[in-house]
Amino acid sequence: MRRIRHGEDRLAPAYASRDFSRPVPRDRIPDRGMPADVAHQMIRDELQLDGNPALNLASFVTTWMEPEADALAAEALNKNLIDQDEYPRTDEIHRRVVSMVGRLFHAPEAETPVGSCTVGSSEAIMLGMLAHKFAWRNRRKAAGLPADRPNVVFGADVHTCWEKFALYFDVEARIAPLSADCHILTPEAVEARVDENTIGVGCVLGTTFTGQVDKIAEIDALLDRVQAEKGWDIPIHVDAASGGFVVPFHDPGFAWDFRLGRVRSINVSNHKYGLVYPGIGTVVFRDASCLPDELVFKISYLGGEMSNYSLNFSKASNQVLLQYYNFLRLGHEGYARILGNVMENARYLEDRLDRLGRFRRLSDAKSIPIIALTLADPDEPPETLDLVSQILRESGWIVPAYPLPPDAQQIRVLRAVVRENFSRDLAELFADDVEAALARVDRLRPPHPSEPPTGRVQGVC
Ligand SMILES: *Cc1c(COP(=O)(O)O)cnc(C)c1O
Repeated sequence: MRRIRHGEDRLAPAYASRDFSRPVPRDRIPDRGMPADVAHQMIRDELQLDGNPALNLASFVTTWMEPEADALAAEALNKNLIDQDEYPRTDEIHRRVVSMVGRLFHAPEAETPVGSCTVGSSEAIMLGMLAHKFAWRNRRKAAGLPADRPNVVFGADVHTCWEKFALYFDVEARIAPLSADCHILTPEAVEARVDENTIGVGCVLGTTFTGQVDKIAEIDALLDRVQAEKGWDIPIHVDAASGGFVVPFHDPGFAWDFRLGRVRSINVSNHKYGLVYPGIGTVVFRDASCLPDELVFKISYLGGEMSNYSLNFSKASNQVLLQYYNFLRLGHEGYARILGNVMENARYLEDRLDRLGRFRRLSDAKSIPIIALTLADPDEPPETLDLVSQILRESGWIVPAYPLPPDAQQIRVLRAVVRENFSRDLAELFADDVEAALARVDRLRPPHPSEPPTGRVQGVC
């Protein structure tokens, strides 16, 4: 589309604009504007310096969708999800997405799962845990007991948003530390920390650090025993941000969800393996009784009444539509096939990296397709991982190196997340590049002579 310009600029291409030889406005809104194509080109050019999303193995977040989904997203850009009265069909689709997620996680058939789509798992976790805080307080008050010192129990393997919840909503965080050879939350660690003031226990289905799964079924059984012995009714919230759309399709027999009686709420990041672009998570409760009534706002607005459970008011609706699109488009079968490929590519990559003989794996690509590696040789300086990460960046790969949380912080890991658009071809190229990066590190610094054990899974407790 050719834009009409005034005066001598009339037929000039964007790069002929004077704006391209002037400093770009950075800190203040400029006095005068610029032509649309010039602004568009200028911003696109600046974004070229970002990493390539397809090669970003640091992130779980979806970087590709079908062209039909892109079109749907653009068509719905101007609809605010909160305007339930004006956009009743959009609101109904939101309800369907929450219901489908609840059914996927085996909410009891006789009940209606309730919940909300959120900006991501962080908001979803805060909403889930707020409900448990209120439910706990209501139970305490009804029993005439003090309700001013709530605590929440989780492992140091959680995402930072759990600590954020505890800080923002004034709940004591009782964090079970990791150890050199256990990188998940165990029932023993939970038992040592729960008491009558525990609003809930957070369990992770696929930790961000190593992809391992907390011992959810064992913690569920422990909390049953605690209730029988002490009378404390402590719920579990499962953080299934990364695993919630993998395990149900890839390993449907694995009971981590509402099939366990204590699991009362679950969050998932639809923008991870729900295969939707960033900006959407879901919190879902096993049934309406888990969400205290006073938290659901019945807002009288613009001529109608809407009920809402969220932290923010306005929000884009198109991510919800994209999730519905994927559910219709893919069905169970489509998700299972895509995730089957993803897991197969992750296992291929694991095998290639094992055969390099330099790493010990902390992950086993069983529940979620992430690969976390530490150095096999305990005497090799851990900075090798940072060097490998930096060298890979030169070929465009983005693969972070970081320490595990306390008390396993002495272990540094290199982590790659395998996503839908990481094909077998890319896996081969990536493994080649890791091998080349190690060779370059060795040229800079000769390898340690001892023969280390390799390829073994470590940290499984
Ligand atoms: C990604 C992630 C989060 C945070 O989710 P967002 O959707 O980015 O807010 C929380 N917990 C786990 C386990 C995660 O992997």
